[in-house]
Amino acid sequence: MNEEDLDATPAQRAQRELQRRVATERCRYYVPNGRAEQFLNQLRAFSPNDPRNIILILRAGNSFGKSALACNIAAYLSRGKPNPWFDSIPYLKQFRRPNRGRIYTTANAAKNTYDDEVKKWFPGQSYAPSKDGTTFNKKLKFRNKSVIDFFTFDQDVEQAESVTLDWQIADEPPPRKLWGAMKTRLRFGGLTIFVLTPLEDAAWMADELETPERLGKDVFVTTADTEDACIEHGIRGHLPHASIESMFSDFDEAEKAARKGGAYLHLSGRIYKTYRAEPEFHCPVDIHDYHMAEWDRKDFTLWNVIDPHDRKPFAIGWYAAFRNGDLYTVAEWPDDSWLPFHKLKDCTYVPKDYARLLKETEAALGCGQDQGRRVRRLIDPNFGNTPCFATNTTIKQELSAEGIKLGYSLNFQDPPDSLEGGHVAVKALLGDVTKNVRPKMYDLAHCKNHIFGMTRYGWSENHNEKKGLSEKPELLHKDFPDLKRYLALAKARFIELPKEQIIQRASSYGKPGYRGV
Ligand SMILES: [Zn+2]
Repeated sequence: MNEEDLDATPAQRAQRELQRRVATERCRYYVPNGRAEQFLNQLRAFSPNDPRNIILILRAGNSFGKSALACNIAAYLSRGKPNPWFDSIPYLKQFRRPNRGRIYTTANAAKNTYDDEVKKWFPGQSYAPSKDGTTFNKKLKFRNKSVIDFFTFDQDVEQAESVTLDWQIADEPPPRKLWGAMKTRLRFGGLTIFVLTPLEDAAWMADELETPERLGKDVFVTTADTEDACIEHGIRGHLPHASIESMFSDFDEAEKAARKGGAYLHLSGRIYKTYRAEPEFHCPVDIHDYHMAEWDRKDFTLWNVIDPHDRKPFAIGWYAAFRNGDLYTVAEWPDDSWLPFHKLKDCTYVPKDYARLLKETEAALGCGQDQGRRVRRLIDPNFGNTPCFATNTTIKQELSAEGIKLGYSLNFQDPPDSLEGGHVAVKALLGDVTKNVRPKMYDLAHCKNHIFGMTRYGWSENHNEKKGLSEKPELLHKDFPDLKRYLALAKARFIELPKEQIIQRASSYGKPGYRGV
């Protein structure tokens, strides 16, 4: 206690201590905005010391406050000074300390952002920085024995490989080859966080991390618009609305969606932008309770759509249309016993195999009782009607003939084939959850090829409408979204049957979670 404190009252001393903390331990007072809080809250699903590798991704617009958030998470993980926002999340509060953490970022940010952010937020008397031969603070050693170092994207990847970490944070997308080293750093489980504005070098993250197989299992994504940090329109935001407006006024739509909305720039040509792969939006794990009784008494219409190919396997979907107009993708082929569709190059199936596959799948869905006559079938009207060179028959005719041999009706109809009209029709069914327009089209979570296609279907990167017709635009990941386009163009819906045909007793198999044969 210094001399000044000797004649200070307890209240004065408390006041001085408070001032000291406010000045030198700002991490105690860091307040995340509403969206950042939502991002952190995903860790509530995990108990302290969960042994798994947990990956959180925050895709956020410019000036959202990513680096301040990253910095405060790092400070909290290392030193654990009280902060109510972090203390309330058991996984963070009881994170093992001391620990070894690392922040990956650009050389520029390490020097020009992090030195200042660390000085601003970290508890001043708790750590000692060292430069280790660089021009910025490369390593921070804490009095509690925690250690953080900074690894910049321009360093050799091999240098990243020698250390075992408890947590790691990447500020901006690391190069793909660095991820190869990052993903094996957490040998005993721990936390990996990405905060980024997904402009360049982020495509690998969409392809490798944000896949239907991983989302919600070990990868958790939050997107944040710069507006989420708006004083007027966000929750606990810090930016005046006018400054956000002027920040993005010069960018075209695609770049604005990335810079302001945190959307992947390389996916800016996406057709179905309102489609959301989360279970609470377009990809539920099961049919909604509302429809379960209908499902159980087969009170829906099963639609089957095929996009045939020469060498690649056919893309096949089965859809349940309910009375209120809701459409659910309930099964797909190739199912998840195969590689993802976009990785399959060829397939040995002939029409006979496809006919058997259709019959068996529909039996397993509980819809095969009437020899397939009640299933509504659509096929790509182009390829489906093209005569095969060898036999001079069409795929449509061959499937029908194979069906007859099996005693099973496989008669396909041609849907209309408008690209633009189909996009409009599918978009109408997808609704827009951000505008409270309820979706009428869902993909059950096990239909991974549908989900992969719907989240990526779009114009190839070099497509530019302004460049005119000499550039040939190409649609990527078209196959499964095409099934939905045909479905929407054919106005797929529930079709009432004459009373005596309704089957009263539910079949014992045929659960909607069925995965194909
Ligand atoms: Zn605003």
